[in-house]
Amino acid sequence: MEKMDKLTELLKDNAYFRWECVSIEKVKSMSEDMLVLCNENDVHEMQKGNIAGSIRAIERLTGMPKKYTSVLIGALPRGDGDARSSGGINVQNALEEAGFAAKLYISLPIKRLAVLSGLAEYGRNNVTSVQGIGSWVQYTVFLTDAPFNDSNWREKPVIATECEDCDICMEACSKGAISKERFLLYREKCKGCNTECYWSCPLNIRS
Ligand code: SF4
Ligand code: SF4
Repeated sequence: MEKMDKLTELLKDNAYFRWECVSIEKVKSMSEDMLVLCNENDVHEMQKGNIAGSIRAIERLTGMPKKYTSVLIGALPRGDGDARSSGGINVQNALEEAGFAAKLYISLPIKRLAVLSGLAEYGRNNVTSVQGIGSWVQYTVFLTDAPFNDSNWREKPVIATECEDCDICMEACSKGAISKERFLLYREKCKGCNTECYWSCPLNIRS
């Protein structure tokens, strides 16, 4: 069996039905528009700190061993096991069993990578949602040498079509942290409660 077929099968066996493997060069390119975002005036200092940390994690890719040519991001429905914060031992086993290198690398901006890789879309409430899974999802990220496919890569983040005519999370958030006018949450207002905006969102049950 071809190595990639074997990898696909092993990932499926572990409930990773949705994943993308993109080139490390595409992932490195993520820092360009994040730098622009980081310098925008209306971005809260805390968000700027997070964005700057993510940019540093992307820049560290340049110093990684040359054998890592691609980045695999896998999406797992939460509750299907393997959803620990250290992420994806089953993905590591699948990569290695299929004959590929595997190095866990979760310091990348994972939600943004999920969206740019084509795996997910953003919701207005800053969640991400994967077709076939919804937003109750756990991601894991590995550097690898598995063949990449950049055909689903997006140059800019996209918001889910469900958000276009929907105000549910905006109205549900009692802190006024969500707006139609901008992509980011108002971090200075958001209390990180992950309650009203999250549980009211139809993306939770998307399939
Ligand atoms: S509640 Fe509506 S607008 Fe908000 S993230 Fe979900 S689908 Fe998008
Ligand atoms: S996490 Fe809480 S405060 Fe932040 S946007 Fe959601 S509901 Fe509002």
